[in-house]
Amino acid sequence: MSLGEFELIERYFSRPVSRAALGVGDDCALLAPRPGMQLAVSSDLLVEGRHFLSTVAPDRLGHKALAVNLSDLAACGAEPLAFTLSLSLPRADPEWLEGFAAGLFALADAHGCELVGGDTTRGPLVLNLTVFGEVPAGQALLRSGARAGDDLYVSGTLGDARLALEVFRGTLTVPSGDFERVRTAMERPTPRVALGQALRGIATGAVDLSDGLVGDLGHVLRRSGVGATLWADALPRSAALRALPLRWQHLCTLAGGDDYELLFSAPAAQRAAVQDAAARCGVGVTRIGQIDAEPGLRCVDAEGQALDLQVRAFDHFHSS
Ligand code: ADP
Ligand code: MG
Repeated sequence: MSLGEFELIERYFSRPVSRAALGVGDDCALLAPRPGMQLAVSSDLLVEGRHFLSTVAPDRLGHKALAVNLSDLAACGAEPLAFTLSLSLPRADPEWLEGFAAGLFALADAHGCELVGGDTTRGPLVLNLTVFGEVPAGQALLRSGARAGDDLYVSGTLGDARLALEVFRGTLTVPSGDFERVRTAMERPTPRVALGQALRGIATGAVDLSDGLVGDLGHVLRRSGVGATLWADALPRSAALRALPLRWQHLCTLAGGDDYELLFSAPAAQRAAVQDAAARCGVGVTRIGQIDAEPGLRCVDAEGQALDLQVRAFDHFHSS
């Protein structure tokens, strides 16, 4: 790289640490989880053209790269501690690096999550982050915890990231006033870090929504050995999405992807506790169905009519 590898790391990615015992510069970073805590660890790989569009502004990419990883910690109810950043870059462009680092560290600082190491090489644009979080031993929220009879909830709204993607693809249009908002949902998602921690001891099963509600809920159902009924018309969605034909609303909310909201189950006895946790975190949560003993996913509309066919048709969009 024109800017040497070490100069690049020194200039953009070396920052003092206070929570970690040792940060960037040695062969290993050293983390110091507090007594009684388990480390929650998660990695995400982001490839240009596959996970983000090449048109995205570098600061938004920096934000999103960390946000999708913090979202995994949120789903486990863990508190962010540190992360590593491995970068493959086509060239060392100072303007790009400055923007990327600014977006990345703004979110990192907001969560007290310290960059402690990584790797840097020349190649196609690929980002890999690994996040480390702390969770009291035995209290992590897992995909395997949902029980028959539990309520099913989702945070925030669903489908705007997919709506933005379809606008970029030219399949849908939205009024210009809505475009910036749905684009922000896609490019600058908000990980529900506080909510995940507030749900420890309340939620039974949890997952963060990265691949689309139907697919991600499927992971919870399989790992928990249960089924679910989903109320398609109860799914929370923006005014921009509500303005579109119902078929698109169903597609974007059920199979959208890139939502980074939390999907979780909780016993009916915890309804007040769930709303209280959400209110304390300033995030809306909506009941969107229930966990059933009968395996499989049933998706019904407001009249209780099954939406089977549509849901199956979503697979086709899902793989694109
Ligand atoms: P090694 O050869 O032992 O893997 P490197 O020479 O690649 O170490 O990296 C030197 C130091 O810089 C290490 O502490 C490593 O963790 C850190 N580092 C490398 N790339 C990055 C990056 N993109 N962000 C943060 N730290 C990095
Ligand atoms: Mg190295």
